[in-house]
Amino acid sequence: MHLKPLITTAFLATTSLAITDRTGDVLNGAEVINSLDLNDVPSSAVTRYYLRAGELNGGFPLHLPIFIARGPKETLETGKKLSVSGTVHGDELNPIRVVQKVFENLEINIDKLNGTVIGVPGINPMGIYLNQRNFWTASDSGFLTNINRVFPGTNSSSGGNGGNVIAYNLWNYIWGNTSNVDVAIDLHTPSSGSGSSLWCYADFRLPYVERLAKLLQPNILKIDPGEPGSIETTFVRHGVPAITVEMGIAKTWLPDLIDRTYDFVIRVMDDLSMLSGNSSTQHEPDLSKTFIGNTFQGVRSTYGGFIESLVTWDQDVKAGQELGRIRNVWGDVIQILRAPVDARIHQAPIDPSVEPGQDVFSLVYNSTDPSCIDGCVL
Ligand SMILES: [Zn+2]
Repeated sequence: MHLKPLITTAFLATTSLAITDRTGDVLNGAEVINSLDLNDVPSSAVTRYYLRAGELNGGFPLHLPIFIARGPKETLETGKKLSVSGTVHGDELNPIRVVQKVFENLEINIDKLNGTVIGVPGINPMGIYLNQRNFWTASDSGFLTNINRVFPGTNSSSGGNGGNVIAYNLWNYIWGNTSNVDVAIDLHTPSSGSGSSLWCYADFRLPYVERLAKLLQPNILKIDPGEPGSIETTFVRHGVPAITVEMGIAKTWLPDLIDRTYDFVIRVMDDLSMLSGNSSTQHEPDLSKTFIGNTFQGVRSTYGGFIESLVTWDQDVKAGQELGRIRNVWGDVIQILRAPVDARIHQAPIDPSVEPGQDVFSLVYNSTDPSCIDGCVL
C-alpha cells in the first residue's frame, strides 16, 4: 500500500534535477515552483513564477515572485543571462519598481531579447511585511537575520533558519548555483534614517565589474572588496561579475533614481549584446558627475540625541569642517561632528534621532594607504 507514494517521491526527486519542479499550485495566476530549469521556461515570453522559498512556523508557505524573460529559443545558448534582484532588505523599496519597469519593457520587446533575464523584485517578503530591513525568525524566542550576509544560504536539514533557507533556495534553485547567471545586479537603498543619491559598491578585482559600475553613471562609485555573505560578493567570489546599487532613500519611491537605474539595466543589456540590433559602438559612460573613491569613513556620535545637520549628500567638505551638531532633549549642543579629512559626503541623516556610536554621516575619499587600494570602510 505504501509503495506507490514512495515510487512517486523517488521519481520526482530524480526528475526535479532535469526540469522545472512545479508544485502544482497556482498563486495569483502564477505557477509555484521548487526549482527552475531555464530550458523548461517558455521562450519568446515573460513568465511569472512563485518560488516556494521556505515556510514560516506553523507550516505557512513563503513565496518569492520571480520573473523570467527568455528571448527566442536559441538565445538561451547564444545570449547572456542577467539577474536583476532587489529588496533583500525589506525597507529598501526603490528596487522593486526598477525590476517591474525592466520587465514591462521586456514584455513589449521580448522578440528582440538575445538571452535571458531573471528578475527577483522582492527577496525578503517578511521584511517587506514588517516594513524593516531583516527577516524575522520565530524560533529561539525570535531573532532577526540580515539575509544579505548569509548567501549562499543554508538549507533546513543543515540547520538553516528562515532567512538562510530563502538565500539557499534562491541561490540554488533560481540562480542555479550561478549556472543561470552570467552577470548580476543587486539593488538596494541606504538603510532607513539616511539618504544619498545613486551610488554603488564594486569589486574591481574581477573583470567586467568596473565596466558594470561605470555603466551605472553613479554619483559615487565605491571601490570595495565586498561583504561576505552578500549577494554581490557571493556572485563575485563565484566568478560572476556583480555590483550592489544603492538608490537614495529607504521606504520611498524616487522616480528620478528609479529611472536612472532602469536606464542602467538597459545599458548593461546593450553592453552584453542582449538587445538585438544594438549599436556596434561601445557605450562610453558619462562619468562627469561621478566621484570614484576607495574609502568610506563614518563620522560617529558619542551620545544619544538629535542631529542638526549642516550638510547633505554629494557635498564636498574640508577636514575640520562642521557637519552637524548633536543636541540633547533640552536643545543644548552636546557634540559637534566634524569631517576628519577632505572628502565628499556620501550619506547624511534624514532621521534626526541618533544613538551613541552611530555613524551619523558617511564620507567618501581616496585613501593613499596601500591597504585601501581595493577598498576600505573605516
Ligand atoms: Zn540594502
